[in-house]
Amino acid sequence: MPAKHEPGDPAAAAEVGAPAAAGATAAAGVASGAAAPAEAGPASDAAARVDELRRLIERYNFEYYVLDAPSVPDAEYDRLFAELQALERDHPELASPESPTMRVGGAVAGGFATVRHSRPMLSLNNAFDDDSVRAFDRRVRELLDADGLDVRELRYSLELKYDGLAISLRYEDGRLVQGATRGDGVVGEDVTANVRTIRAIPLRLKGIAPKVLEVRGEVLMWRADFLALNARQREAGEREFVNPRNAAAGSLRQLDPALTARRRLRFFAYGVGEVVGVQTPDSHSGLLDWLRDVGLPVGPERGCAEDADGLLAFYRRMAQRRAELPYDIDGVVYKVDRRDWHDRLGYVSRAPRFALAHKFPAEEAVTELLDIEVQVGRTGKLTPVARLRPVFVGGVTVTNATLHNEDEIARKDLMIGDSVVVRRAGDVIPEVVRALPRDPAELAAGTGRYRRFTMPTRCPACGAPTAREEGEADRRCVAALACPAQRRQALWHFAQRRAMDIDGLGDKLIAQLVDTGLVQTPADLYRLDASTLAGLDRMGEKSAANLVAAIDRSRETSFARFLFALGIRHVGEEVARILADAYPDAKALENEDWAALAERKARIQKENARRRQRGEPLEPVPLEGIGPEI
Ligand code: NAD
Repeated sequence: MPAKHEPGDPAAAAEVGAPAAAGATAAAGVASGAAAPAEAGPASDAAARVDELRRLIERYNFEYYVLDAPSVPDAEYDRLFAELQALERDHPELASPESPTMRVGGAVAGGFATVRHSRPMLSLNNAFDDDSVRAFDRRVRELLDADGLDVRELRYSLELKYDGLAISLRYEDGRLVQGATRGDGVVGEDVTANVRTIRAIPLRLKGIAPKVLEVRGEVLMWRADFLALNARQREAGEREFVNPRNAAAGSLRQLDPALTARRRLRFFAYGVGEVVGVQTPDSHSGLLDWLRDVGLPVGPERGCAEDADGLLAFYRRMAQRRAELPYDIDGVVYKVDRRDWHDRLGYVSRAPRFALAHKFPAEEAVTELLDIEVQVGRTGKLTPVARLRPVFVGGVTVTNATLHNEDEIARKDLMIGDSVVVRRAGDVIPEVVRALPRDPAELAAGTGRYRRFTMPTRCPACGAPTAREEGEADRRCVAALACPAQRRQALWHFAQRRAMDIDGLGDKLIAQLVDTGLVQTPADLYRLDASTLAGLDRMGEKSAANLVAAIDRSRETSFARFLFALGIRHVGEEVARILADAYPDAKALENEDWAALAERKARIQKENARRRQRGEPLEPVPLEGIGPEI
């Protein structure tokens, strides 16, 4: 890294300003943000809150736009921003042209030359619900109508809202001469050398060479490239990027273009700035086609609509497809299609009136880590589970999330009491991504708000010792079937549909059978009689008889199912099937000489490698698919 405050370096976040003070503000911001409603009481309270919000938002803007290392999720930022907008609306006397609500968020980092945009690069107004979309459509119609235009001709062009960073590309006489970031919308950073390394961006336009053509669009990073980049960062001991957007921004805004060249960046065009010496299409959708024809990548997912219902239908369709796209989008964008109407509709402080960004529900949110509980699995594995203050994220309310194992907790440096970022994308199970900076005052005063978690050395279910074997990430209870938790899970595994398929033997009943000591091992199930079962809670004579019949029926099963049902470590359905194909019954399995088999297997594999080179037919390998460990 050439400079200490290299803007592309996520580690710089920790170097700018005192980290302790920064942490305090973040924690305070989250706490008070949740507590203070927008309709605060006396005007002086409102003024103080407005002040506080402006300071917080400025700081988050700096972290996000300049350092490319945000400390809070976008949803948290959007919440504070909306609160500030509401306060300024309710208290017009507090409005100020300096407020972040009046300006485009970014700023220019030191180290780059500046570029004054020939036409400003604005933000977009946001909508988070259907009503705001309908209100947008109504307003557009009213404004056009008031201007004497024929609203029956209104069409919208629909695009994705790419989650990257805005860039302006200037072509003169058909050649790329400049690339600039949005910056504060008026002045951006000159990143020409970096932009030239992005292969998706043509250095020359195809078939035309107008005096000036400014193309506006988004630089982004595919999710797969982001994961690969973070893996490399991790290996090199460098800080990882929070998401593909910040990785894209951090990669483009490097003082050393060679670094940008090594990151795989992409580009989608979505508009134009200054144009001299060429006729461009009258409609926005036509403009996008034209841009594609002159060699610029344009997003393939587009649509058109005539009214609010059409807008919302596109939104829903894209929300469903979101997870399958190779890149991140955070919503869709609606634009009035007729470009001559854009200027008629005009602009508000920081965004055009002819466009609207309709955002998807956030995939990340902040909540509190209330506690960490430990669950004991079928094979004795201890899994720490985060108990969370319920939080709405990715379209569902999340109350807990697995933390996998103790190394994972250490790697994320989590403490009970932390404010944490929770992520749920698509149908993927929710995860705790990271903790927000802790309040240093609370830490110093030792108020007990934060507590370290350690994995128990005794099993929480049976009190037996727990152990972590060399080279394993998981800690296990050593008691095996003597541990009631493992016994319950083993029985559940045994009885499930894919195993012995014992109808009617559910969680609650298994817990009773274990707690009363009636069943110690799966074999005990076959000794149960209907009268004993009928004596259990919520068991009638009929259901007891049914269960006994179901248990009896399970005696007739395949050898593969039976092997799988035993729940031997590493013996899943596939391995069980391979074993059952190779051995007629349990006796044959027991009598096998495993050491001799392993040797024979290794020998055949070596021989087959030779045969493969010579192109000869291969000898069958015994127990193909089962390795030496199993
Ligand atoms: P924005 O990202 O909500 O919308 C405007 C931008 O959308 C444009 O500048 C353009 O770059 C982009 N865009 C993508 N696809 C487009 C398309 N098809 N047509 C036109 N534009 C398209 O606004 P913003 O001002 O860039 O950023 C504000 C947002 O950034 C906030 O809502 C928040 O989510 C996030 N943010 C987060 C933090 C944080 O600390 N987490 C801080 C600042 C901003």
